[in-house]
Amino acid sequence: MMKSDVIIELDSVCKTYQQGQSTINVLKDFSFQVTRGESLSIVGPSGSGKSTLLSLLAGLDAPDAGRVIVQKQDLTQLSEKELTRFRALNIGFIFQQFHLMPHLNALENVCLPLEIQKRKNASARAEECLKMVGLDHRLEHLPKQLSGGECQRVAIARAMALNPPILLADEPSGNLDAETGLTVTNLLFELVKQENCTLLLVTHDRDLAQKSSQQVELGFRKPKHSTESTLSLH
Ligand code: ADP
Ligand code: MG
Repeated sequence: MMKSDVIIELDSVCKTYQQGQSTINVLKDFSFQVTRGESLSIVGPSGSGKSTLLSLLAGLDAPDAGRVIVQKQDLTQLSEKELTRFRALNIGFIFQQFHLMPHLNALENVCLPLEIQKRKNASARAEECLKMVGLDHRLEHLPKQLSGGECQRVAIARAMALNPPILLADEPSGNLDAETGLTVTNLLFELVKQENCTLLLVTHDRDLAQKSSQQVELGFRKPKHSTESTLSLH
C-alpha cells in the first residue's frame, strides 16, 4: 500500500469520558488506516465507542491523545473554523435517525448543504442526487410523507450532494426493517463504488460488515472507577 493512498489514519488514539466519578475508557491506543476508495465496517456492541470514533474522524470531537489524520490533515491541529471547512469539503454523514429537516421536502433537504456552500445550480445537483437514490419521483414529499427507507435514501442523497470523498454512516439501517435496511445498505455500497468514495460504516450486522473490504471490532469496556466504588454502571 502506497502511503499516498491512505485517506484516513488513526494513530494511537485515546478517548475517555468522565461520567461523575467514573472514567469511561472508550478508545485506548487505537490505530488503523483506510485506503482511498476502500470501505471499512466498524462493529461492536452498544456503548463500545463506534459513534465516538466517527465523531473523531469528522472532527466533531477531539481525542485525549494520538492523532487523527484525514486527507493528510491532522484534525487535532485545526481550528474550529478550519474544521467546519474540512467537514464541508470532505465528509458526508448518514445517521440512524435520518435527521432530515421535517418542514423541508426531499429536494429542499438535499439542496441545503449545497446552498450553505453557495454552490451554483444547487437544485439541479440535488435532483441528480435524488435520482441516484431512485427518488426523482418524490422531490416534493415531506419526510413525514415518505417511508423510513425513502427518508434514509434522501439522507444518502444529501450526504453525497457535495461529492465528499468520505462517507461516514452510523448504523444507517438501524431504524429500518431487515429487508429495507439491506436494500438501503446495498444502495450505499453501490453508490460508494460508483462515486469512488471511502465509506466507514457502523453496523451491528456482521453479514453486512462482510461486504466491506476491512473491518474493525470495538470491544465493550467496563468503566474504570476513579474512586474505590462498588457501584456498577452496567
Ligand atoms: P456506540 O456508538 O458504540 O454505542 P458511543 O461512542 O456512543 O458508543 O459511546 C461509547 C461510550 O462513551 C458509552 O459508554 C457512552 O455512554 C459514553 N459516552 C459517549 N459520549 C459521551 C459523552 N459526551 N459524555 C460522557 N460519556 C459519553
Ligand atoms: Mg452509536
